Amino acid sequence: SWGSLSDKNVYDWSSEEEEPDGRARPIQVLLVKDDHTFELDEAALSRILLAEEVRDREVVAVSVAGAFRKGKSFLMDFMLRYMYKQASEDWLGDNEEPLTGFSWRGGSERETTGIQIWSEVFLVDKPDGRKVAVLLMDTQGTFDSQSTLRDSATVFALSTMISSMQVYNISQNVQEDDLQHLQLFTEYGRLAMEETFLKPFQSLIFLVRDWSFPYEFPYGQEGGMKFLEKRLKVSEDNQHEELQNVRKHIHSCFTNISCFLMPHPGLKVATNPNFDGRIVEIDGDFLNNLKVLVPWLLSPRNIDVKEINGSKITCRGLLEYFKAYIKIYQG
Ligand code: GDP
Ligand code: MG
Repeated sequence: SWGSLSDKNVYDWSSEEEEPDGRARPIQVLLVKDDHTFELDEAALSRILLAEEVRDREVVAVSVAGAFRKGKSFLMDFMLRYMYKQASEDWLGDNEEPLTGFSWRGGSERETTGIQIWSEVFLVDKPDGRKVAVLLMDTQGTFDSQSTLRDSATVFALSTMISSMQVYNISQNVQEDDLQHLQLFTEYGRLAMEETFLKPFQSLIFLVRDWSFPYEFPYGQEGGMKFLEKRLKVSEDNQHEELQNVRKHIHSCFTNISCFLMPHPGLKVATNPNFDGRIVEIDGDFLNNLKVLVPWLLSPRNIDVKEINGSKITCRGLLEYFKAYIKIYQG
């Protein structure tokens, strides 16, 4: 995995939030422990969300969620590049520049189910003149046993409630179990929300990696929408009732649902242990679609502020909701 690439950058991420060299980095704010209890690092979360420049700004919370080793960190590092080079045409970076960010996590990375947040919240000017705060979240889980599935579902539900945009990162196709997992996540989330709030979730984006049928549905957003329409269609005649219900449920949970089909990034990315993320070694097709995908997700025009019950939420407000939602799951 990515971690082993960066031995020279091994930090002890589990210790304090203080950045060893003052640089931004991913912070584990929510952790599922071996005994299946949840640990929220409230101090770290407060430090990020209550920083003076951002706390009273309306917040855009972007989450990328999915199983391990499916290229989430790789993608998020490009999202970071875009955020750091706001409004610049050459955000993708130099050909030989190694990729850094979420992937720089040291060689002994344990696969922890939980939520990481980038320690730097970005301030972005929307075209209508409002300045909003953009928060990037990495949400991951394991799905290999009943108990880890339940943990993952809870974490996904939390990140869906907290985010204004949930990017569901999946490999190769939208499989029936991807949909079932999603139903489970959103069922957990909806149960929790019914206790206090009525508003459904905001945007869900299916991001399909290594899409290999571009002749059927082309790469990108339009191909993705057509593919998803077909995949999420509820048909009364020859579809099992359970499959129909999964689809109806997903439709009923989100205000916007879309899909983006990404090509395979090439063998160097997928298999070379010495690959350090430099774009000269990434397939052109992948880069071309990355240049569409990232601004489509994150451009000032396209980002939406988090709303709960129809009200726009600030960073300070988000912290309160985070704490309240966690309490629901801790019982
Ligand atoms: P994460 O655990 O989901 O964050 O996955 P990582 O971003 O750490 O990537 C895991 C491995 O997959 C790394 O070796 C990456 O180089 C590779 N990778 C990144 N993006 C892709 C992709 O789109 N397709 C494939 N096949 N591999 C990828
Ligand atoms: Mg990762």
